[in-house]
Amino acid sequence: MNAHDINQTFDLLALAQGDAKLNHKGAYYIGPCPFCGGRDRFNLKHTPNGWRWFCRGCGGEKYHTPIDYVMRRDNLDFKQALEQMGGKAYTPTPRPAQPIPTAPAIVLPVATWQAQRWQEVTRSTLSLEYDKPAQIARDYLYARALEPATWLVYQFGFGLVYSRPAIVIPWWDAANTITAVKYRFIDDLAKRDPGRRFGMAEGSKPILFGLHLAGGQDTLLLCEGEFNAASITQVASDTITGLDTLSFGSQSGGRADFLRQVADGYQRVIVWADDPEKANEIRLSLARPAEALCSPQIDGTKYDANALLKNGYLADFLRETIQTPTNAQ
Ligand SMILES: [Zn+2]
Repeated sequence: MNAHDINQTFDLLALAQGDAKLNHKGAYYIGPCPFCGGRDRFNLKHTPNGWRWFCRGCGGEKYHTPIDYVMRRDNLDFKQALEQMGGKAYTPTPRPAQPIPTAPAIVLPVATWQAQRWQEVTRSTLSLEYDKPAQIARDYLYARALEPATWLVYQFGFGLVYSRPAIVIPWWDAANTITAVKYRFIDDLAKRDPGRRFGMAEGSKPILFGLHLAGGQDTLLLCEGEFNAASITQVASDTITGLDTLSFGSQSGGRADFLRQVADGYQRVIVWADDPEKANEIRLSLARPAEALCSPQIDGTKYDANALLKNGYLADFLRETIQTPTNAQ
């Protein structure tokens, strides 16, 4: 077999899985790099030309072949690797597993808090779906062009909080632990006074909104506000491939480490904020290349993701601004 055939047929997945713990996410196998470590900087994908691998830490800006992998792994030159892989069955020499560093510690709310919040979220989700008094919440979400399938994905609910009707918005971490419960009040008071629109369950630790849906795609879109994230998720499934959307909520800061760590798992990061300065500030805090995206002005009015959704512009906007030429073919 020549080098092309070897690269096309060699079972690099089996070999790499022996070297590092890789998780299957979409079209990729992602995990620590067998050469330089990390947590999720290495990925493997199958192409018509065979397996290819990529490492953000040590791989340069391109995908490499199975032969490259074996050369590097077993310290062989090209010819030696070729002989190894093309001759009799390749038997890798065992290597010690790389230690996997843990994510930065975030102190989560205690277990009793968790249990209470789960009950609250379960109850409020059912209420939003079935209860008569929740009609005001369903109307509110429909008016924002958010569909029931989207409510379900985010487990939005309805509740009376301090006797005020509110959309209940749970925040999870990637392991489906509730870290915060936010309330978007929908009464007249909230309409009159923007300062009275939001509340949060006591003891909440808002980290990032939408983490339970993030799944190792190529592109991360960070946006402001839960309903903006929900709007993007709602149209992106039909519009954009390979996109994870997370919201940093209304306040930034305090979670910079975590944000940086999450962003590190993506090939491309885009920060979308209403205010260009805020987008820039978050972009810089990531300490890695990231693009800034600002809400467009249409006839003098700024449109955030939800406003674009309501007016039917969001799919086109995402296609034009986020879809990369390689994905658009
Ligand atoms: Zn590496």
